[in-house]
Amino acid sequence: MDAQTLYYAILCFVGLQFLFNHYLGWLNLTHKPSQMPPWATGIMEEEQYQKGLRYQQEYYYFGLFQELLYFGIQFSLLFWGGFGYLADFLATQFSGWEAQVFSFFGIIMLFSTLLGLPFSLYGTFVIEEKYGFNKTNLRTFLFDKLKGMLLGIVIGGALGYVFFLLIFTLKAHFWIYFWAVSALFSLVINVFYTAWILPLFNKLTPLPEGELRTAIENYSHSVKFPLHNIFVIDGSKRSTKANAFFSGLGKRKKVVLYDTLLEKYTIDELVAIFAHEVGHYQKKHIPINLVIGLLQSAATLYLLSWFLFTPELSAALGAKQWAIHLNLMAFGMLFSPISFIINLGENYLSRVFEFQADAYAKATANGEALATALKKLSTDNLSNLTPHPWYVAFHYSHPPLAQRLAALRLPESSNLVTHYAS
Ligand SMILES: [Zn+2]
Repeated sequence: MDAQTLYYAILCFVGLQFLFNHYLGWLNLTHKPSQMPPWATGIMEEEQYQKGLRYQQEYYYFGLFQELLYFGIQFSLLFWGGFGYLADFLATQFSGWEAQVFSFFGIIMLFSTLLGLPFSLYGTFVIEEKYGFNKTNLRTFLFDKLKGMLLGIVIGGALGYVFFLLIFTLKAHFWIYFWAVSALFSLVINVFYTAWILPLFNKLTPLPEGELRTAIENYSHSVKFPLHNIFVIDGSKRSTKANAFFSGLGKRKKVVLYDTLLEKYTIDELVAIFAHEVGHYQKKHIPINLVIGLLQSAATLYLLSWFLFTPELSAALGAKQWAIHLNLMAFGMLFSPISFIINLGENYLSRVFEFQADAYAKATANGEALATALKKLSTDNLSNLTPHPWYVAFHYSHPPLAQRLAALRLPESSNLVTHYAS
């Protein structure tokens, strides 16, 4: 394919993706009933529902403004060949590929970080603050950003260096070696995430002895879950929103509960949430996701190896000469329709896994307690009670609350079961 066709294809994909995403967001916004639907009685109060509507609406317009700006900049740069111009300019300044590649991505990342900062500040200190979620202060906020950036530079820089080094030494055969490196890397991150990365941002403490710990240990014993580590994370340092998650593999697996969860939930509810996390473990969701991720990265890298050396791709981004970083960027944009579809599949699988973990919690712990915990979680986090099904398909890794309650098939959720059967 010639550079001109590739140029139009890239503009077309980037534009269509933006339009489609906003169509989905708009569908989701206008789909919401202005009064709480009758089937939601008992899940939350009307007042809470209205507050949720205002919260979601505010985020919609905020997101629209931000993405319009980002899209405008990206599209203009593509349209006028800005990325190619930058790469050509850097090639006249530096002779080695290392300096060219890292200065190119460094400039883009610095620019997008600076551009994103006011939005991030507004989201945290204006919107989250207004709805009573924000607990962070400017100091923690800025340190978080700084640590995140440094982590990105160290990890991304090291992986990026290996990636480009393999390309320049092995040419098209690089993909299989880099795949092995990235597989090893994702395994290490999976195993050590809670030991190495999380403590940079949060304090993890073992769940202290007491009624809750005893209840969780009794439950673990009853389902033969080899429990070594239950941790509490100081999520309250930043937000009032509550959560829980499972992390790690083998002996290093951990269940992490937010301290915000411990404040507001009963022992039964917390055991049910814990049982849901154990469900993810028992159903082998983490290794399955890991294997899928590995297959996916093998396919992507293989495809990439076909496109890295074609000068037409660099030319499509406006460059006079071939540059590896431009080809990589153009590849990402050309394959965005494919990653869009992959994302659809990933979200679907993730929602199936959530149903399975819920069913496991119902079977081994207490379905009613799980239901009340889920209701509390979505009320407290002002989750969208009535998202548009298409929006859910593309963006939700967890099923909406009403579907989770219906799937639990408790007597009290019979109205939901009929709602979803119709
Ligand atoms: Zn889950």
